[in-house]
Amino acid sequence: MGHFHLPDTLLGDLTRIAGGSVKYWRQPLDKDRIRVPQGIIHVIEERCKGCGFCVEFCPRGVFIISTRANLKGYHPPEITDSSQCADCGLCALLCPDFAIYIESSEMSLHDNQKTE
Ligand code: SF4
Ligand code: SF4
Repeated sequence: MGHFHLPDTLLGDLTRIAGGSVKYWRQPLDKDRIRVPQGIIHVIEERCKGCGFCVEFCPRGVFIISTRANLKGYHPPEITDSSQCADCGLCALLCPDFAIYIESSEMSLHDNQKTE
């Protein structure tokens, strides 16, 4: 069975959207009332064994592997931009050592300058 290929133009559009480079040409009228989920990330570094699952699978690319080591000699994740956390909970779900938990928060779409 042959492979399915996306047309180049569609692929280009999807790449730009995924990269967040697309500017919205209009804003929702109820923008001030829309609340979007945001997570507050907590990493318990001493529990981490440096498997990298959180770094690999966070859909927002919030983590990188730290150059620091914990007391066990493993490199815990470092948060690059906590404002990007969408409170999906995937990192906490995947972490085999229960080293991450996410507190739910939310913010107004109006506060999110990146959508403008
Ligand atoms: S909750 Fe989701 S978006 Fe936030 S850091 Fe974890 S995996 Fe990334
Ligand atoms: S998933 Fe858990 S154990 Fe693995 S690197 Fe991330 S915090 Fe450490």
